[in-house]
Amino acid sequence: AKKSRRGSFVTFSTEMGSDIRERVRLLQSLRSAVESERLFIVYQPQVNLGRDGDVVGVEALIRWRNEDGTFVPPDRFIPLAEASGMIVAIGDWVLRMSCHELVRLQALGLPNLRMSVNVSQIQFRHPEFLDKLNAALIDTGINPKCLELEITESVAMEDADFMLETLHLVRELGISIAIDDFGTGYSSLSHLRQLPIDRLKIDRAFVSELNQQVSGGHIASMVVELGRNLNLTVIAEGIEDEAQAETLLRMGCHEGQGYLYAKPMVPLQLKEWLQARLA
Ligand code: C2E
Ligand code: CA
Ligand code: CA
Ligand code: CA
Repeated sequence: AKKSRRGSFVTFSTEMGSDIRERVRLLQSLRSAVESERLFIVYQPQVNLGRDGDVVGVEALIRWRNEDGTFVPPDRFIPLAEASGMIVAIGDWVLRMSCHELVRLQALGLPNLRMSVNVSQIQFRHPEFLDKLNAALIDTGINPKCLELEITESVAMEDADFMLETLHLVRELGISIAIDDFGTGYSSLSHLRQLPIDRLKIDRAFVSELNQQVSGGHIASMVVELGRNLNLTVIAEGIEDEAQAETLLRMGCHEGQGYLYAKPMVPLQLKEWLQARLA
């Protein structure tokens, strides 16, 4: 876009200037949001796509509500939090909160419920990450088997040796690992095969394609096939209608999440939703 714009230098630099000002402003308000606890976490159920439709887990998703009641979407502030290093503290907080929440959720009668937590690459690469992970397990007493970290495909592929070692150490704690947004990056299959991971998560973009006649579903079915070959479970995100769920199930994808089942919910809402389903 930078290159294609005509007469562009002036336009570009003014735009860039205002973009920087906007980022600085956003970063300042993120800092104060953290301090005044205007960040919170919502949880979206993950279900078995088969007939029983059991809830198998929940994904923790961060939210930021401004003083005026408006929301700043994570896609906007996570990159900023990463660039400024704030993601380390924020991510650690999400991890702890989610582990504590898992204890309460499992007590509702779902002892095997899984908690999936998104982990940014900055956080994952931080030298204290494993210690913090361990501390969260010890402090909450959760079964590590019930904790899953979601890292993106691009993160998993960068700096192969370091990643491989860290992933092994995470796995040694008993925690499982899912590759998020799978299909959006450029994984080398030989590298993927070496990674100690448990699950592939089909990105929403490929799930929404399922309804289209032309290219619909090719990537989703490839991911399912890949999962089968590598012995990994596959979960689909962003399922919005029955047709998508049926197609995925037919392809051999057994788990999913999306608005068809539930939107991300605050703990009280989630608790009611779970209790209604268990009843
Ligand atoms: P993601 O991990 O790929 O999460 C899936 C996104 O899809 C979430 O957006 C979720 O609310 C949304 N979603 C779920 N089901 C549906 C559906 O049926 N239809 C549609 N249209 N959307 C659906 P959200 O919550 O805005 O999060 C956006 C991204 O922000 C996440 O993408 C993740 O990359 C990042 N993120 C969120 N929370 C955290 C966090 O605690 N730590 C880190 N590092 N990243 C986070
Ligand atoms: Ca995710
Ligand atoms: Ca995604
Ligand atoms: Ca993502």
